[in-house]
Amino acid sequence: MVRSNPRLRVADLPALAALARDRGALLVVDNTFATPYHAQPLKQGAHLVVESLTKFLSGHHQVLLGGVVGARDVVEPLRQVAVRAGLVPNPWACWLGVEGVRTLAVRLERASATAWRLARFLQAHPKVRAVHYPGLAHHPDHPVANRVLERGYGAMLSFELPPERAAVNRFLRSLKRVRLVLSLGGVETTLSHPATSSHRFLSEEEREALGLHEGFLRLSVGLEDPEDLEAEFSEALEAL
Ligand SMILES: *Cc1c(COP(=O)(O)O)cnc(C)c1O
Repeated sequence: MVRSNPRLRVADLPALAALARDRGALLVVDNTFATPYHAQPLKQGAHLVVESLTKFLSGHHQVLLGGVVGARDVVEPLRQVAVRAGLVPNPWACWLGVEGVRTLAVRLERASATAWRLARFLQAHPKVRAVHYPGLAHHPDHPVANRVLERGYGAMLSFELPPERAAVNRFLRSLKRVRLVLSLGGVETTLSHPATSSHRFLSEEEREALGLHEGFLRLSVGLEDPEDLEAEFSEALEAL
C-alpha cells in the first residue's frame, strides 16, 4: 500500500481504474488534496470521489463538511444511508461551503503557484534536508502527476528539517504568522507535524518506514504574499 499523505504521492488513476474494471471493483478516490481544480477522477475512470469540504473546497476553516460524487446509481445507496442515519449538515454550513466553492479556482491558482515557488525555495535551502512536492522533477510521482493532475501540482507540500524536536520547536516558534494547525486548505498557510498528529497512531516501525521523523513537516499553502512567506521561512530556518 502506498499512502499519499504526507509524502504527496500521486496515484496513477487510469491504471487503477483499469485494474478495478478488470476485477469488477469500484474505484473510490479521496480527492481532498488535489481538489477538483487539479484532478477530476471521475473523468479518469473512478466510480466515486470523496471530497472534504472542510478543507480547500470551503477554504476558510469555517465548516465541517464532506461530499461524495459519482453516477446517480452509485451515489443513491449512500444518500439513503446518509438520510436515514441523520448525516444531514445544517443549511448555514452548506451555504458557507457553497460560497467557498465559488472562489476555489482563483484560490488554488494562487496557492499552487506559491507552493511551487516555496518548494523550490526550500529545496535550495541548506538547512532543509528534503522537499516532497509532485511538481519537483525528483519526486517519485512527477511523471504520474503530469498525466493525472491539471493546472499545476496543488497547494500541499512537505519538507524535512533535522530530526530533532528542539530544533523543530525553535523553527515553529520563530514563525510569525504560519501556525501549527490540524486541518489544511484554508486561506492562511498552516503547518502540521505528522509524527505527533495525523500519523501518531502508526507504530514506530510504520512511521520509520514512511520516513516520518520529528523533523518532517507538512505545509498547506494559503493566499499570503509569496515574498512574505519566503521571508518568514527564511528567518525561521536561520533560527534552527
Ligand atoms: C480532512 C481529510 C479528510 C476528512 O475530511 P472531513 O472534513 O472530515 O470530511 C479526508 N481525507 C483527507 C485527505 C483529509 O485531509
